Formats: sequence, structure tokens, C-alpha cells
Amino acid sequence: MEKILVSACLMGQAVRYDGRAKTAEHEIFARWRAEGRLVSYCPEVAGGLPVPRPPAEIEPGADAATVLRGGARILTSDGADVSRPFLNGAAGALAAARRHGVRMAVLKEGSPSCGSGRVYDGTFTGATLPGRGVTTEVLRDHGIAVFSEEDLPAADAHLRALEAGEG
Ligand code: SF4
Repeated sequence: MEKILVSACLMGQAVRYDGRAKTAEHEIFARWRAEGRLVSYCPEVAGGLPVPRPPAEIEPGADAATVLRGGARILTSDGADVSRPFLNGAAGALAAARRHGVRMAVLKEGSPSCGSGRVYDGTFTGATLPGRGVTTEVLRDHGIAVFSEEDLPAADAHLRALEAGEG
């Protein structure tokens, strides 16, 4: 059975920076859960960050690929450089995906780790821009398809294609 790597906060685990979860309620998600195909993972906690923790964003003008190359940082709202735990968590996500034979992931949109379509712009004003988190960037670099929880029908279609041998 095809497994899916999922952001732990979408699974109902209270691991977000604010100490809360962001549980996904969609029926597609419930079906996958009942089928036992979900592998829960939080890159930031796995990378060593506490719960709760200060919010963090990729620094203004940079993107995840630049952070991965060491050319930009991920900073907390009080200016601490948390790039290393974010990168460790991203590497751990790839290791977990490989351990479970995962070829696709559904990760929390907007996060500097898990975002797949947009991220916050580094100003801590709530503004977003198109982009990806560092875990998404690493997974995609290694051929793992990443969807957001906002596009579960597309993720489900991709799952069916993988299971039909078309992936
Ligand atoms: Fe959820 Fe990802 Fe943030 Fe962890 S790093 S709390 S899994 S969005």
C-alpha cells in the first residue's frame, strides 16, 4: 500500500509553534487515515525545536533553495537563526520518507518547513508570497510529490495514479 508522509499538525498533534494542532478534517484525509497509509512527521520538532516556539520565517528576499545552499537563513521573530534545526528536520523528513517507501507527501501550507505553494515573506506581518518550505524543497528535489492540505483532491488523484503504476 502506498504510504503518504503527512505534517504531524494535520494529524492532530499539537506541535505547531503556538502549541496547537491544525487537524485536517477532510473526508479524503479520514479515508487515508483509516487505510493506515499516513506517516506523521513534524520537521521542526524532529530538528530539535521546542513546542511552543517563536514563529520563524525565511528571511526577506530569499527562498528555500537559497537556504538549502547556505545562502540565506530562517529567523525567528526575535532574530534568532534557526536554519540548522529546520535543515536537520528537512533531512529527517527525507530519511523518514525513504524508510517508509514514501513517494508523496501532504504538508501544511504556508509553513517555512512544510509550505508547498506559499510561505510568509519574512517580515512577520502575515504577508505571504509564492514559495516553498525547506522540507518541501528537499522532498521535491528527491522526486517526492508534495501537496498541501488545501488540495486533497489533487493529492488523491496522484495517489490513484501511483497505485495504478502511472506515477
Ligand atoms: Fe506542522 Fe510542519 Fe509546522 Fe511541524 S513544521 S508544526 S508539521 S507545519
